Amino acid sequence: MRVAIISDVHANYHALEAVLSDIDRDGVDAVWCLGDTVGYGPRPNECCDEVRHRSDQCLVGNHDLVVLGELDVGDFNDEAAAAVRWTSDVLAAESRDFLQQLEPSARLHGVDLFHASARDPVWEYVLTEEAARGTLELSTAPIVLVGHSHVALAIAQDGDEVVGGPAPEGTEVELVGRWLLNPGSVGQPRDGDPRAAWLLLDLGRRLAAFHRVPYSVEQTQREMRDRGLPETLASRLERGE
Ligand code: ZN
Repeated sequence: MRVAIISDVHANYHALEAVLSDIDRDGVDAVWCLGDTVGYGPRPNECCDEVRHRSDQCLVGNHDLVVLGELDVGDFNDEAAAAVRWTSDVLAAESRDFLQQLEPSARLHGVDLFHASARDPVWEYVLTEEAARGTLELSTAPIVLVGHSHVALAIAQDGDEVVGGPAPEGTEVELVGRWLLNPGSVGQPRDGDPRAAWLLLDLGRRLAAFHRVPYSVEQTQREMRDRGLPETLASRLERGE
């Protein structure tokens, strides 16, 4: 079974379309989304529609939950909070219904999925060795998938050690032993590469391959500026931060 893993779309429709085209060229049996479909970006409803139609499993993330009113907007920084308020105002009933029935974690085909981490599926960033170890200790599946940090990662458990780190474009790993993988972000990458990220998981051949896809950053930035979303959220997209 070949599964495409996407995460943190953040209402960036042009990035999502580019990723889905790339996934279609590759040919997969399923698409799993690790959450944060909305927030930050200009096209939340189109992204909810597309993710709802195309994904076989989708999690909810902190940005989805705050837009639904299930988290306190005071827990987000000023720019993110401005985007939350704008998104809440424009979110269609269909999008709300879709996001409302999602959970922040799941287990399927022997793979554990968390939006953020096993210790805190909504909020914790897995960006340190200690956090990676915490999630590997609390979960039991050989393959654990997390999103939320917007940084593509491939971390292996080797006895008591955890080894690995950032997984740039072209990284391929053989899934022997236990692995913690983050596909990176479709709509707002933060690992210095502005291209949209996705991960191919081949469960039959036990292989994972990290992909990056160029898309029109300018088009998304133009839409963000047209809608009056914070300039810092638009400009960061071209730097992948
Ligand atoms: Zn996110």
